[in-house]
Amino acid sequence: MKYITDIEDMQHFVRQWKREHSSKQIGLVPTMGFLHAGHLSLVREAKQKAQLVIMSIFVNPLQFGPSEDYEQYPRDSIRDSELAMQAGVDVLFTPQVTHMYPETAQTTVNSGYASEVMCGRSRPGHFDGVATIVLKLLLLTQADDAFFGLKDAQQVAIVEQIVNDLNVPVRIHSCPIIRESDGLALSSRNVYLSEEQRKQAIILNQALNQAQVQIEQGERQINILKQHLQETITAMPLARIDYIEIRTYPTLMERDNLDGRMILAVAVWFGTTRLIDNKIIDI
Ligand code: AMP
Repeated sequence: MKYITDIEDMQHFVRQWKREHSSKQIGLVPTMGFLHAGHLSLVREAKQKAQLVIMSIFVNPLQFGPSEDYEQYPRDSIRDSELAMQAGVDVLFTPQVTHMYPETAQTTVNSGYASEVMCGRSRPGHFDGVATIVLKLLLLTQADDAFFGLKDAQQVAIVEQIVNDLNVPVRIHSCPIIRESDGLALSSRNVYLSEEQRKQAIILNQALNQAQVQIEQGERQINILKQHLQETITAMPLARIDYIEIRTYPTLMERDNLDGRMILAVAVWFGTTRLIDNKIIDI
């Protein structure tokens, strides 16, 4: 596995690789590190579609609010590079914050409506930070294919919006959510949970599964489904709901009744840890 930290080295490397492998594809897996099986599933997918797999590890300060966990965000570069190597990553790109965002930097990317609802409402500016770093990484790596997890389904919708709006020549692949055996979606932030919070956190997936059953039994009214989700989640004493949303996907519009492809999405606080989960359902 090749390690690249410098931006110019990355640009030089991909230019040369493309010259030497003109008919082959570069796959990008952007991450913030502290790798788990969710990240590694994206690498597996990338290896099937691309001949060169680049993983970036960059804890992006631009997507953290002032009172969020940028400083505390878990980091373990040695373990990450071992896991990336074992998974078959070809290039590990770990740029430095001061290089990605020099003091002279002014430009950010705003993807409009989709970045303002759901997680965007709870985390103002978050998706502008995501959009900016994803576009920078796509440009820097010249990726033909880029791989994202549906754990962050709103992020996938926003990345697809940017790529369409700005004619970025990349295919976006959305990959399934990887879960613990009890159903909790894997997340680097799960390490923050206390033992009791961890036990109660399975309610996110359980509530979404129950909603799916209701839908399969014919329920179409979004208010009723949301009400049930709320009752199920608040039955856990440590859970504090940030939002429960049911919207069209990927356009994230509000509706009264289920119709077409919909996302059921929840964000729930356990202490100071905010967990998200979702389910995409075709009616
Ligand atoms: P992060 O390091 O949290 O920014 O995540 C990097 C990428 O991994 C994003 O595309 C995430 O959606 C994806 N990812 C994170 N957790 C999971 C999961 N449990 N299953 C699938 N993909 C995931």
